[in-house]
Amino acid sequence: MKIGVIGAGTMGNGIAQVAAFSGYDVLLGEMEQQRLDRAQAAIRKSLTKVVGKMEEVEDKEGHVDRCLGRIATTLELTDMAQADFVIEAVFESFDVKADIFKRLDQACPAETVLASNTSSISITRLAAATSRPAQVIGMHFMNPVPLMKLVEIIRGLETSDDVCRRTVELAESMGKTAVEVNDYPGFISNRVLMPMINEAVFALMEGVAGKEAIDQVMKLGMNHPMGPLKLADLIGLDICLDILNVLHDGFKDPRYRPCPLLRKMVDAGRLGRKAGRGFYDYS
Ligand code: NAD
Repeated sequence: MKIGVIGAGTMGNGIAQVAAFSGYDVLLGEMEQQRLDRAQAAIRKSLTKVVGKMEEVEDKEGHVDRCLGRIATTLELTDMAQADFVIEAVFESFDVKADIFKRLDQACPAETVLASNTSSISITRLAAATSRPAQVIGMHFMNPVPLMKLVEIIRGLETSDDVCRRTVELAESMGKTAVEVNDYPGFISNRVLMPMINEAVFALMEGVAGKEAIDQVMKLGMNHPMGPLKLADLIGLDICLDILNVLHDGFKDPRYRPCPLLRKMVDAGRLGRKAGRGFYDYS
């Protein structure tokens, strides 16, 4: 079976790596050759780390080469016609994703499943951009893909039972645990996570406690591996704001209104770890 992955960024690279590691042929699609070159180097580095820990593998370099050999690349979206199952992982923009789904729908055989790794965009809306809404589904991997066990499987209004079952099987064959949810804003992961992060930012803004204290309460008191402000820095504060806006727009409920301090941090370019500064300093 051949898996198409569109977008060779943080998530696309991880998905391509895990699929190839699990024995699938992969076709990784991008807009720019430079990004594909960077992706191949990043995947080699990550695979070398993973295979390095596998005591049962003697020829580690050969194993890495064989996995990488299963990943072909392309700059042409129409090449996805070769894939049996396509996973889209491009920017979190409805317009960009809807355009890709429309073009995939025209290029791919009728039986191909089209999945999106979106964090918050409605699967039902993306499916409506195609002529095969029963074969459109959400396949929400977590970051970093090689390490995180969960794949949240999101059923759009029209997604068929058969497509849902095949997507769960694919996730499990990649060593993941699949959890099925229905298509509502933020699904389950971000609907539950983002209000917690937002509340932590409100607590900071209101001076209830300092950032370290807030994170320590949640880490030591709730047994979370990291506090909510540190986690927000890891995810990216712009991404957190985008998802809260999706929740707020989708439910029209004030409990999802983004904290003004979060907006201010994003306006200032303090986007978290990727920018060198968020709630914490990473320089
Ligand atoms: P990213 O910015 O690292 O990568 C996106 C890639 O898509 C870029 O390399 C870009 O060149 C490529 N791209 C954009 N338009 C394209 C097109 N038309 N054709 C081909 N390639 C195109 O983004 P990311 O962090 O990997 O996120 C990708 C998706 O995964 C988003 O929908 C995001 O919400 C979701 N997601 C992200 C995370 C995370 O923690 N980063 C976690 C779960 C889900």
